[in-house]
Amino acid sequence: MKYIRFALTIAALLCNVLSDAKNIEHTGAVKRPKLVVGVVVDQMRYDYLYRFYDKYSQGGFKRILGEGFNCRNHHYHYALTVTAAGHASVYTGSAPSVHGIVGNDWFDSHLNKRIYCVGDSSAATVGSSNAAAGRMSPKNMLVSTITDQLRLASNFQSKVIGIALKDRGAILPAGHTANAAYWFDSKTGNWITSSFYARQLPEWLVNYNARKRPAALISQGWKTLLPLEHYTESTSDNQAYEAKFLPAKKSVFPYELAGTAGDAYGILSSTPHGNTLTKEMALQALEHESLGMGAATDFLAVSFSSPDYVGHGFGPNSVEAEDIYLRLDKDIAEILARLDRKLGKDNYLFFLTADHGVMDVADFWKEHKLPAGRIDYTRMNSDVRNALKSKFGEGELIAASENFQYYLNEPLLEQKGITTEAVFKVIRKTLMHFDGVANVLNLNELYKSDLNEYQSTLYRNNFHLKRSGQIQIVVEPGWMAGPIAANHGSPYNNDTHIPLLFYGWGVKRGETFRRTAVWDTAPTLAALLSILEPNGNMGEVVVELIDR
Ligand SMILES: [Zn+2]
Repeated sequence: MKYIRFALTIAALLCNVLSDAKNIEHTGAVKRPKLVVGVVVDQMRYDYLYRFYDKYSQGGFKRILGEGFNCRNHHYHYALTVTAAGHASVYTGSAPSVHGIVGNDWFDSHLNKRIYCVGDSSAATVGSSNAAAGRMSPKNMLVSTITDQLRLASNFQSKVIGIALKDRGAILPAGHTANAAYWFDSKTGNWITSSFYARQLPEWLVNYNARKRPAALISQGWKTLLPLEHYTESTSDNQAYEAKFLPAKKSVFPYELAGTAGDAYGILSSTPHGNTLTKEMALQALEHESLGMGAATDFLAVSFSSPDYVGHGFGPNSVEAEDIYLRLDKDIAEILARLDRKLGKDNYLFFLTADHGVMDVADFWKEHKLPAGRIDYTRMNSDVRNALKSKFGEGELIAASENFQYYLNEPLLEQKGITTEAVFKVIRKTLMHFDGVANVLNLNELYKSDLNEYQSTLYRNNFHLKRSGQIQIVVEPGWMAGPIAANHGSPYNNDTHIPLLFYGWGVKRGETFRRTAVWDTAPTLAALLSILEPNGNMGEVVVELIDR
């Protein structure tokens, strides 16, 4: 009997193998799409797909939702959900603990200086007179990206281009071996790059910059797409916590943009015009770089930065946020329509995701009796410094604070014979009295923390021994820092739950509620493209979406 069952099992296994083998063609060339277009929306929460659904057009988000694959329970897998870490994680299939992009900024204890995620003093601006704007490269990212792997796999025949208003949104997705990355210089209104990529801008970009689109868009101001009374998903327009476009005294539509404070063209980033510029650049690159027209698969990585500025300034429940998403939907529709015309509907692979979500405005939650608040970071810092001085005497024991972390002055600790544990105990005792502080962690001994396993994993995935501080403040859910309307950077669902939509070549129609993580994006792309995943990859292939 035992042998019969064994024989039947073997027969069943063989049958499976044979039927699988029948379904997979192993003749002819490896099949790949002509082009991959990756879109990261800066600060797009998952619920925006549905909150504004009825007002979206047929050709944008609705088209991808209807014809593509939707990972509906897709989350960040680390605690400090910010732009640079998000873009790096999407494209590397990794986590800050390995790819090293632990924040937008961090402190380097060895060099004793603050580091910007894509800062590179050996690089120079190409394309404008603004020397600071172009000192950028991806060299701080410690692993390869999916875009690097595509370049490697094709022996550098694949073309990879990154585009975003924010330098980090263009540079990190495009990887180390990119043909180009372009970002916006808000002082001159030019799209620029750095000497890391090229000695000069391509002619098409010189011509596009010469058209002075930013000046034309500023003169248009910002009016709502629909009549104001149609924005029924949002609060009324005038809220005290919303940002002002100075010198204007109120934050209400319609907005005049000419003559506002700040860089000449900086205001565009905080309006839908920033997305318009990004879309135009993507279409320019598509056209003039002949993306998808060569023998090898090309990759266009686009990041829309403006929703982040608008979300911070006005909050996710504002008319301004709703308006920027209704307009972004049209931009996405235009990009898809152009790809259809240029490459054919079934010849490109498209995905859309986000670098983080955002918390609702704390004041808005309080107004509706929900638990929320603003932590007093300035007072916390001064209380911590005072407590350390009274315990350990004079001398600055904290070298820097960033990402809700304290970086300790290790040479001074050593000189005074003070342990990290002793400093941690004083800081923890001081901070636990503050409203909005849930916990204080000694990151060097995270395994000892009293966090639950889920949260502990999020902080562990964030911790990089050389780039993280030693002491971490964990804020309560609903609590935020900063003098802005809304913020992100927390391990809570409003910041971690984001969209992941795949569409087009090789992608099934459907959806899953299985929990997927952001580091699954790159290995799924690698599987679709039949190339090696990035070297720091720790995610898994979202098997359900692959159409074989
Ligand atoms: Zn942000």
